[in-house]
Amino acid sequence: MEEKGSISIHTENIFPIIKKFLYADHEIFLRELVSNAVDASQKIKRLSALGEFNGELGELKVTVSVDTENKTITITDRGIGMTAEDIKKYINQIAFSGATEFIEQYKDKTDTSQIIGNFGLGFYSAFMVSKNVEIHTLSHKEGSQAAHWTCDGSTEFTIGPSDKKERGTDIILHLADDSLEFADNYRIQGILDKYCKFLPIEIEFDGKIINDPEPLWTKSPSELSDEDYIAFYKKLYPMSEDPLFWIHLNVDYPFNLTGVLYFPKLKKDFEFQRNKIQLYSRQVFITDEVKDVVPEFLMLLHGVLDSPDIPLNVSRSFLQADGNVKKINSHITKKVADKLQELYNQNPESFQEKWDDISLFVKYGMISDEKFYEKAKNFCLLKNTTGEYSTIEKYSEKVKATQTNKHEATVFLYTSNASEQDSYIQSARKRGYDVLVLDSAIDSHFINQLESKLEKTSLKRVDSDSIEKLIEKDEARESVLSTEDKEKVTAIFTKASEGKGIRVATEVLPVDEMPVTITVPEFIRRMKDMSATGGGGMFGNFMKEEFIAIVNENHPILQKLLKLPETEQQVLAGQTLDIALLSQGLLKGESLTKFIERSISLLNQN
Ligand code: ADP
Repeated sequence: MEEKGSISIHTENIFPIIKKFLYADHEIFLRELVSNAVDASQKIKRLSALGEFNGELGELKVTVSVDTENKTITITDRGIGMTAEDIKKYINQIAFSGATEFIEQYKDKTDTSQIIGNFGLGFYSAFMVSKNVEIHTLSHKEGSQAAHWTCDGSTEFTIGPSDKKERGTDIILHLADDSLEFADNYRIQGILDKYCKFLPIEIEFDGKIINDPEPLWTKSPSELSDEDYIAFYKKLYPMSEDPLFWIHLNVDYPFNLTGVLYFPKLKKDFEFQRNKIQLYSRQVFITDEVKDVVPEFLMLLHGVLDSPDIPLNVSRSFLQADGNVKKINSHITKKVADKLQELYNQNPESFQEKWDDISLFVKYGMISDEKFYEKAKNFCLLKNTTGEYSTIEKYSEKVKATQTNKHEATVFLYTSNASEQDSYIQSARKRGYDVLVLDSAIDSHFINQLESKLEKTSLKRVDSDSIEKLIEKDEARESVLSTEDKEKVTAIFTKASEGKGIRVATEVLPVDEMPVTITVPEFIRRMKDMSATGGGGMFGNFMKEEFIAIVNENHPILQKLLKLPETEQQVLAGQTLDIALLSQGLLKGESLTKFIERSISLLNQN
């Protein structure tokens, strides 16, 4: 006997509205239906374990099949099944009321992108792609009659007996004309791979099991070897190099979270491979946009997170404000910092070897997250030009004696480009100073952060001042020039540097220093660097580059210069300036060509 009925909802035309809303995300129907089949299978397992179901469990796999000719997709499970009463209650009332609630909540919203994928429509999502849906189901309850339900997505349905013999449920989708793309094995395989790869019950498609029901993150770390972690990583990211290391997360209080986060090899600066962390809820893939769940700097990591506590059926802005999400966020940050500290403590040498690969990520974290800074300052390494690494504290102790200036501040010298700034590095090292290598794009921000955190410490690039002034000591050096000669020298160099955007100053430097050194004051250069990488506010943009040519009053070449006739003075001063520019990598184009020509003709003179 077949019964007709009407689904009790207030909006008559709910179906076309839902279809429109979810247009971009149609493929999730399969995720929803397969998850339901998995849930039903897990329920029967549980009932059996509890002794509430005494029948034969049998093989509990879920089967998905596509009939390209008849344009149907069938999802079959051997779960708890439903009686006709269950269908009326769970499908006609619950599933459809969920859909009604969806419409009520979102009918006034214009930004549909916020909705899509965030609302678990469950069973009703079948109607996004079907003109008709059938259910054949036999309940696990003893003496149940198999039931058959059909509905065309309107509020009308029919319910009657079915000849289904096996316990469980078949959902048959008769694809709508505009959804025939899903009557395709490749398409279905692709969707299953995306959403169902780690579902906890075996899923069979095309004669093959397509999932791993016990993915690595659900196992206990004590059962797993390094090879297991690496193999799982390769499974997630087939073309990637081996990860550096990983963290297995396992939290059950105050929220549920499991997962494995991998540290990938990061080669280039800011080669941010986002969307590499996959978010699951009870092994069902939800999204790889984890922006709101994972702190920005941790987005550089790869791996999976699984939490039933992350509310996925709400809009994005809600997710950001969600208390659980915030807790998850800070928990992950803490775990990552603890793991890095542990790795450092266990084996500082091997940590050093990995440092170049992880420094970008650690520095990014130290700049953007106060709590992470506090932890990371103990394992963050500074590398110098000779390839030695030390923690910030050890480094400070190391250079304190030689690099403390007359104001009692310790000066960390650094280079942003060791090959271009080699002459400055050499002159600093000659004085027994150490030079750090801080040459990545993030370092200009990192330097500011270090200065604001470290007491009585400043950082200066090696070429930001003359060697005497980089680290000002109390010892005063005598000039060999008279005041008059000093003025003459300044005038000669000022004339020679006309039009080059260079300001001339004289200073008393050791005789073994260059006759002229070009510097860019630390403050000005830093503002420029910051604005180049998107920080530093508006100053950087209109602050002009300011080069200063520091003429070494004690260099013997000045004695020669003062004795020459005026035209030759200009040649010599120009040549000396150019050499200084050259050593800073600033002599280019026409100026460089002229310099070379002049040098050759000078060599040719006798
Ligand atoms: P949800 O799964 O969030 O409860 P759905 O709309 O997906 O919402 O499903 C509504 C209800 O229908 C489920 O809670 C379940 O009781 C029942 N149901 C759906 N699919 C199946 C199935 N394959 N086997 C048994 N019961 C099912």
